[in-house]
Amino acid sequence: MKKTAIFFKSVFGFERLSKYESDYLHDANLRSCSYMGFIVVLLELWMLIRQTYSKVVPKVQAGGSLSELVVKYTSKYWLFLLIGLGLMLFCLFYQKGGRLSRGRFVTLVAIGAACMAYTLMLTRENFTKAGGSTTPVMAGIMNAMLVTIYVFLFVIGAAIVTYALFNYLRNKRIVILEHVAITAFNLVCLAFGVFVSYSDFWGGKEIICFLTMVIYVGCLLIYRPYITLLILGASFFGFYRILLTFESGLTFAAQEIEISGALHKIISGDAVNYVTFFISLTTICFAIYHGRLKEARKSKELEKSAKEDRLTGLWNYNYFSELAAERIRALKDGFADHVLLFVDVHNFKAFNDQRGFEAGDRFLVAIGTYVSDAFSDSLYGRQADDHFVVMTKREGLEERLDALNARVSNYDGEILLGINCGGYRLSGNDEDPRNCIDRARYAAHLIKNRFQTVYIEYDEKMSEAYRKRLYVINNIDNAVENGWIVPFYQPVVWSDTKEVCGCEVLARWMDPIYGQLFPNEFIPVLEEYRLIHKLDRAIFEFACRDLRASLDAGKPVVPVSLNFSRLDFELMDAVSELDGLVRKYGLSKDLIHVEVTESALTDNFAKLNEAINRIKELGYALWLDDFGSGYSSLNVLKDYQFDVIKLDMRFLSNLENSEKAQILIDCIVKMANRIQMLTLTEGVETKMQAEFLNRVGCNRLQGYLFGKPIPKEALYDRIDKGELTVSEKRL
Ligand code: C2E
Ligand code: CA
Ligand code: CA
Repeated sequence: MKKTAIFFKSVFGFERLSKYESDYLHDANLRSCSYMGFIVVLLELWMLIRQTYSKVVPKVQAGGSLSELVVKYTSKYWLFLLIGLGLMLFCLFYQKGGRLSRGRFVTLVAIGAACMAYTLMLTRENFTKAGGSTTPVMAGIMNAMLVTIYVFLFVIGAAIVTYALFNYLRNKRIVILEHVAITAFNLVCLAFGVFVSYSDFWGGKEIICFLTMVIYVGCLLIYRPYITLLILGASFFGFYRILLTFESGLTFAAQEIEISGALHKIISGDAVNYVTFFISLTTICFAIYHGRLKEARKSKELEKSAKEDRLTGLWNYNYFSELAAERIRALKDGFADHVLLFVDVHNFKAFNDQRGFEAGDRFLVAIGTYVSDAFSDSLYGRQADDHFVVMTKREGLEERLDALNARVSNYDGEILLGINCGGYRLSGNDEDPRNCIDRARYAAHLIKNRFQTVYIEYDEKMSEAYRKRLYVINNIDNAVENGWIVPFYQPVVWSDTKEVCGCEVLARWMDPIYGQLFPNEFIPVLEEYRLIHKLDRAIFEFACRDLRASLDAGKPVVPVSLNFSRLDFELMDAVSELDGLVRKYGLSKDLIHVEVTESALTDNFAKLNEAINRIKELGYALWLDDFGSGYSSLNVLKDYQFDVIKLDMRFLSNLENSEKAQILIDCIVKMANRIQMLTLTEGVETKMQAEFLNRVGCNRLQGYLFGKPIPKEALYDRIDKGELTVSEKRL
């Protein structure tokens, strides 16, 4: 029972529509109105031309008065033209929110004024001469209707002007006026249909005009079904009754024999069609309404997903930026009291690794709630990953952030969590929120993993370093194209013979403005902004090209090791790219070693595992970089078969005095050898370190003791001078 009620409620459109849905239908109606307005304008222009040539011109030539003839034969077309034009412009200037734009204001005032002038003119004309209509009864009705219409038109005209003026001055919403416009237009269309078809009908013609107008009103505009039913029902029934008023008001029962010709047709035969037409049209209108409503719901979903972050339901970064830009502009002089915040979560990655992705997602949702609680009166959103953004007042900020930090750090009893937040104070009301957030983010990054500090504000002192970062982000493409990115080569030697057995390729950025930049100045930024693949792609190519050139020149070559960032596997098909380059330059695969860091492998990322396995399958040597530097996970050694493990240079610090460090290195080398992996130690700077490493069986060494990273030419210089000897041995 209840279900049936709901069903009927929705079929007839009695259900409650959300604001979005009714706005959507309203928008559609206004759009339709502008098309209708356009059609009316064309139609009326055509009629005006026709009337002028067929009626006015010949009569003026026969001596009639031009002004009288124009009024007599063309006035209703002028009226419709005016209404059509007004409607078209009014709807064309429509913008969401319903505020009165200048275009609409001018349109309204012009239309209103014209309506009033027109009505005055017609009234004068009409009441100085009696109109000769078809029948006395009809003449009476028509006259009454005319007077009503005149009064109505005049009042409308005056109302429009006043209303427009009033709202324009107060910059108010004018949605009601839109409804009035639509309704007025409906009435006019229907009246037009009735008038024209009435005389057509008695001239023995079809009632096409009426039907057209009804379709117009019913199908182009969308109403709730019960309203459609009312409008169409009243129109069809009303028109039918009007037709029956022929000749001293015949009644329905008496007509059958008496009425002749056209009316007989409609009642005895076409009445069925007439009713069928009404039913079909109503059904079509219902279908259109429900179709549009469905569309509205779908578009709402879409719009929602375009604005909201899927996981947390907060605004996404794009939409946050849009809103922030609006708010900043609206701040006028108060901008200096406002800040934009970039909130980052300490150790989120560790949390994700240890608790799993689902728990990580739940944590993010919780943080979203904490942020919205802490800044309920402000604008906030999620940028990406564990990064949240806020626009708020500077006053009382520390307390809010402390509260937020406390909630985040209490989330997990074991893992050390917390937030680090960077802020940027607005310095004008024309600032781009994205730039502000970038600066806040830069500031936040300065206190990353300093758990004691929750908040840091961007200041001018930071701006130089910040500018450099921005420069890197904005110029990576230029740098690659213009050859600012250069591969440097650092020799790797056998620990027994100290002969060169390979080179590590390390990127340098030779900048025309900043001079030589080191990887720590561009690699982390490029990774953070997910641009690192552009650099790596270039470096891989340069390294392959250099190898080819040396081979062609008949110089001795050694294998090169290439640094792969974890993100390379996400941002490009790194393995295929590498393999493509190796084939392009006709190199043998054993000339390439792939270095991946341990942190890349603990990410548990399916694509990455696949890539790592493919590297091995294709026949490239896989090296594990920076072993022992981060969260060492011996699992990585269990899960993947590395050819070489690179021990991080921190193992060597204070090696001379630390027996513990010596034992540790000894054990790692032995352990690696037992699982068929070789070892290399980085950062060898002293002879003592080199001797120790050789003694414990570490196969390869790399460090300043043997050579710093240098350009290819410099490397060959050293070889030519005999400072370095190239080994024949490969493994
Ligand atoms: P990494 O892969 O661990 O590279 C070794 C770093 O240690 C190099 O720093 C090298 O110059 C430095 N080094 C070598 N021997 C010694 C030594 O005896 N003492 C000291 N103190 N340092 C030594 P660099 O060139 O500044 O590179 C830093 C990091 O940047 C690299 O660490 C690597 O992770 C990254 N990187 C460099 N080039 C690239 C690249 O083309 N792509 C990617 N993705 N990362 C790169
Ligand atoms: Ca490396
Ligand atoms: Ca390393």
